[in-house]
Amino acid sequence: MLINISIDSDFSIHNIPFGIFSTAGNTPRVGVAIGEHILDLVALAKTGVFDFDISVLDRKYLNEFISLGKPITGKVRTDIQDWLQKDDSPISAEMLVAQSDATLHMPVRVGDYTDFYSSIEHATNVGKMFRDPENALLPNWKHIPVGYHGRASSIVVSGTDIKRPKGQVMPKGADKPVYKASGRLDFELEMAFIIGKESQLGEPITTEAAPDHIFGMVLFNDWSARDIQKWEYVPLGPFLGKNFASSVSPWVVTMEALEQFKVEGPTQEPVVQPYLAYQGQHNYDINLEVGLTPDNSKETIVSKSNYKYMYWNMVQQLAHHTVNGCNVKVGDMLASGTISGKTTNSYGSMLEISWSGANPITLKTGERRTFIEDNDTITLRGFAKKDGKRVGFGEVSGKILPNT
Ligand code: CA
Repeated sequence: MLINISIDSDFSIHNIPFGIFSTAGNTPRVGVAIGEHILDLVALAKTGVFDFDISVLDRKYLNEFISLGKPITGKVRTDIQDWLQKDDSPISAEMLVAQSDATLHMPVRVGDYTDFYSSIEHATNVGKMFRDPENALLPNWKHIPVGYHGRASSIVVSGTDIKRPKGQVMPKGADKPVYKASGRLDFELEMAFIIGKESQLGEPITTEAAPDHIFGMVLFNDWSARDIQKWEYVPLGPFLGKNFASSVSPWVVTMEALEQFKVEGPTQEPVVQPYLAYQGQHNYDINLEVGLTPDNSKETIVSKSNYKYMYWNMVQQLAHHTVNGCNVKVGDMLASGTISGKTTNSYGSMLEISWSGANPITLKTGERRTFIEDNDTITLRGFAKKDGKRVGFGEVSGKILPNT
């Protein structure tokens, strides 16, 4: 083996996630995270080991590489796994870059972004707070993977600072709205999947065909301004309270790498429409956590959740998204919606953790929080582990800057 990989590294030999990186001497290009390093695929391709058009590796985004299709991208992954474990290998030390010496970029050019609302615990919590504690779920929720179209232009990679958004809010008891910086800024703990194969307008993707269209997943923080959201969302849904920014992790973990972490989903009752029925397992056991770090201070883990809590799975989301003939394209990003568990310490947003501000939490530093303050950094992490094999996502982190 060319390099040592720590036993608790997210980027084990079982993972081989793809991303875009640059260094002081090289332009953005396709790489693979392995341990503390990045394997430069442009450099590897120069040895002549690949029999596809290698110019797709010398690009600012993964879209063209992903478009080669799973038979090719999957083989690149398994070949790299083999080569990294062999002495006689086309991979040499000069092709490996320390992650600390590299800049990571947005992995894909996102054409369209859709956000679902597929955690029953999250939808129930929000319904209790904003509508009816007795009938928290709306009548459609168990029949439709509810979603909306978001904004692709403001999706940014981990490490990008986010300026606190300004907008209209309606103060409690006031008779007219005011324009101000959001006072209820929040994160949403989500994961997103990336489309790897386009579909044609007018042709739905079935739940059976859906896995073929899903390339991989990233961590996704869907930043939300609750006060702006509350005033604007009736009747057409989320708009400026959501579209100022979403942050993603830089490494795309492939569905092949996640295959061994599949688990049963929850029982869906009432029985879903036939086009939403599915065979096999499509939920994944992925441990998730959220850290909040005040400026120059210690991090407090404010939530520990798991992707397996999802009521609606990815193949159902994609089947529903396209059932009317809507097409998808390579690089489209479809996010899960906030992933909350059953207990307060597994809720996926400050809105739920502080119960709309009623129950502040105390951080390790002794400070209290209901929502995110200026100069707080929010970090999402995720990994799956089974039989000693660990496949992780690294992290997505973002700092909130003041907006005066
Ligand atoms: Ca969301």
